[in-house]
Amino acid sequence: MAAEKQYDAIIIGAGQAGVPLSRALAGAGWKTALVEREHVGGTCINEGCTPTKTMVASARVAYLAGRGNEYGLRGSTTVSVDMKVVRQRKRDIVDSFRNGSQKRLEATENLSLIFGEASFTGAKSVRVGDDTLTASRAVVINTGTRATRPKPARLG
Ligand SMILES: Cc1cc2nc3c(=O)[nH]c(=O)nc-3n(C[C@H](O)[C@H](O)[C@H](O)COP(=O)(O)OP(=O)(O)OC[C@H]3O[C@@H](n4cnc5c(N)ncnc54)[C@H](O)[C@@H]3O)c2cc1C
Repeated sequence: MAAEKQYDAIIIGAGQAGVPLSRALAGAGWKTALVEREHVGGTCINEGCTPTKTMVASARVAYLAGRGNEYGLRGSTTVSVDMKVVRQRKRDIVDSFRNGSQKRLEATENLSLIFGEASFTGAKSVRVGDDTLTASRAVVINTGTRATRPKPARLG
């Protein structure tokens, strides 16, 4: 059933700024809604920084292990990479970062984490599913960016 919900602040997007800002506002006593359409942590935790750097770390360890003899290590320095294990390690780290962040949000007083796509219906109101959320003080947009294909350059 459609509902109208009132907040002091609405933050759209649980990315790099949305998560800490929502907790700070809630901690200051503002009734805050954080709306996320996919997963907590945004691109950095789920598709960007964390998964890529986790896999880069595996590559670095493999490289160093292969040079063990040069560093005075004895024993086999023949290294092979098990990509299944590398990818599982990456998924486990991403899951723990995302789930840890989500749990902290859900445990924060004055803060409602709402999953769904937000679209504006007014200067201080957004629709999420069937519900309309209004903010008396601020609506903050932290929706990141989208990739776009550049127009072909004109030559001559
Ligand atoms: C492969 C890759 C590797 C990267 N590695 C690094 C790195 O090592 N170091 C670094 O500093 N940066 C890195 N970046 C860049 C970094 O990920 C971004 O700069 C950062 O995630 C941007 O954060 P953001 O909060 O602005 O946006 P996002 O992280 O994209 O967050 C926006 C959030 O808003 C949500 N959202 C969007 N529209 C709506 C809506 N209408 N309603 C509800 N929710 C909505 C999205 O689902 C998303 O969760 C990397 C990026 C990529 C792609």
